[in-house]
Amino acid sequence: MAGYIIDENELDLESGWLCLDYANTAEWHASDQPIEQLNTYADLVEWARSIGLIGEPDARHWLSEGNRRPEEAAETLLWAIDLREALYRVFTALSAEDQPAPADLSIVNQALADALPHLRLTARPGGMTWEWERPDAALEWFLWPVSQSAADLLTSSPDLERVGVCEDEDGCGWLFLDTSKNHSRRYCGYSCANRAKARRHYARKKQRADDGLD
Ligand SMILES: [Zn+2]
Repeated sequence: MAGYIIDENELDLESGWLCLDYANTAEWHASDQPIEQLNTYADLVEWARSIGLIGEPDARHWLSEGNRRPEEAAETLLWAIDLREALYRVFTALSAEDQPAPADLSIVNQALADALPHLRLTARPGGMTWEWERPDAALEWFLWPVSQSAADLLTSSPDLERVGVCEDEDGCGWLFLDTSKNHSRRYCGYSCANRAKARRHYARKKQRADDGLD
């Protein structure tokens, strides 16, 4: 059975961690109405392909498996979203220096318990490395490396201390790894930072007008 050796550094990730990119597969995640990116099982496969977690032939394989077993594919998607939401809540809690909810941790632990039996050692030039089994029937395969990535990040300081949540007031809620020197990053990117700046500018202007200064 062919397997997958996954090096997160070689994936096309925005945050640098597979688990954080996965947790960001809903937009406006901290708002009342997040925008779901994983609406079908095919969306999950496409996400994995787009970041290079799986190759084109495997994407085709899982798409056809999903079509052949629609009920299992739908269940897999529900579990994938449960896991993602648990990861999102665990990381946002830790980022706020709160304890994660036990129910969320137990979802992450369940995902790990599903994943780890499929991890094995394999020889590569100069040593050994971890390899994921790739059983043809495992529709939830993608969640295995995601779970391992989460376990790795949750147990690695200082990266865990650098996990931040975009502070955008409209609820962007994007998770990122703050690599700034003094841990001062507050927003996911320019658009949220600029919106906050415009808001502050408007508030100052309004204050001046209210104070009769303009
Ligand atoms: Zn943002």
